[in-house]
Amino acid sequence: MTPERRTKVGIIGAGPAGLMLSHLLHRDGIDSVVLESRTRAYVEQRVRAGVLEQGTVDLLDASGVGARMRREGLVHHGIEIRFGGMGRRIDFPSLTGGRSIVVYGQQEVVKDLIEARLADGGTILFEATDTRPHAFDTNEPSIRYTHDGNPHALACDFIVGCDGFHGVSRQAMPQGHLTVFERTYPFAWLGILAKAPPTHDELIYAYHDHGFALYSMRSPELTRLYLQVAPNEDRALWPDRRIWDELHARLETSDGWTLREGPVLETLVAPMRSFVAEPMQCGRLFLAGDAAHIVPPTGAKGMNLAIADVRVLARALADFYASGREDKLRAYSQACLARVWRAEHFSWWMTSMLHRFPNDDAFGNRLQLSQLEYITTSIPAATSLAENYVGLPFADS
Ligand SMILES: Cc1cc2nc3c(=O)[nH]c(=O)nc-3n(C[C@H](O)[C@H](O)[C@H](O)COP(=O)(O)OP(=O)(O)OC[C@H]3O[C@@H](n4cnc5c(N)ncnc54)[C@H](O)[C@@H]3O)c2cc1C
Repeated sequence: MTPERRTKVGIIGAGPAGLMLSHLLHRDGIDSVVLESRTRAYVEQRVRAGVLEQGTVDLLDASGVGARMRREGLVHHGIEIRFGGMGRRIDFPSLTGGRSIVVYGQQEVVKDLIEARLADGGTILFEATDTRPHAFDTNEPSIRYTHDGNPHALACDFIVGCDGFHGVSRQAMPQGHLTVFERTYPFAWLGILAKAPPTHDELIYAYHDHGFALYSMRSPELTRLYLQVAPNEDRALWPDRRIWDELHARLETSDGWTLREGPVLETLVAPMRSFVAEPMQCGRLFLAGDAAHIVPPTGAKGMNLAIADVRVLARALADFYASGREDKLRAYSQACLARVWRAEHFSWWMTSMLHRFPNDDAFGNRLQLSQLEYITTSIPAATSLAENYVGLPFADS
């Protein structure tokens, strides 16, 4: 098929990774096209992550898409860890030289990026289906796709797969090219979004005999709450009353703090998985974000890693177009994987410390309690948690 459209960088997927990459490339004068299988309304309403690391916040600001986040996002200077009926706070700025996080929904980041791309004349083709990376082992790759019922081809210099864990880009790489590292967990998260004003102004991570619970918020009117449940939990077994009872049991402390209830607007069951595919490149096809790696959400790292990947890739592509040199492109995978593995470890560690494991005995339980005691009373241990949570500085910043 003769490609009827040409761009420099063809991007598959309009999640945080694909949109941010297209935005950063535009700022360097590099043309790109984003192909997204879903509708604009769908991607703008898909509720997922909500914690932005300091580096992500700074990058949104520096690249001109941080204004609404600054107005509407909630700056948090710490988190609380609860166990044994007591809460203990980890203070981020004092432990990390002034760094913090911002609670701002992933769907809001996506809305801001789509608005910026379209205002800058960028091209995002929604409802582009049957997407397939093609000839990425040559210098003339293309992306085949279907749009408005017709087959098309997009010619480009590079293809970037930002199409999430279930996308086509990773699968398109030849068999044997990737090495996969994976861990699944014997639990999932049941999440609810409730129309209830928060009764605490920071996230609460609770370890309880019944299992883990997370208290978070999306706005002054909305709370977002999670419960550890069995993997593939049947939502029907969890009427709203049971969810609230369990949240009260796992989150409340002996000092009288109570949870405020409200109508449940949404529920989801999220599986927990750690996954890394190496390398994040094959010829002129690159992977970024969830297409290459997944973390369990306990460390709030997924979206932040996606943004960190495309920051590295945008710089490498800018260097290529400015100088013709490919060394930064060749180093892309290695540069990202150092940060990815740090986040993999942190996410696994937080998950292991805070969840009850089905076959764990009293010994395992005592080890978890000892670790919780340590990270909430030792400044060096709390510092390690805090600096990973707010996000380590980018390697080149
Ligand atoms: C239910 C859930 C809850 C989560 N909660 C948290 C959390 O609390 N904290 C946290 O840090 N992370 C969380 N995550 C992870 C976080 O949302 C992801 O890490 C983040 O979305 C990664 O961004 P991405 O752009 O790489 O991928 P995605 O956001 O998955 O975007 C990929 C895009 O590609 C599109 N696409 C897929 N296949 C194709 C195709 N063949 N052709 C064209 N387009 C395609 C998809 O429609 C999507 O728009 C959660 C994830 C899930 C699923």
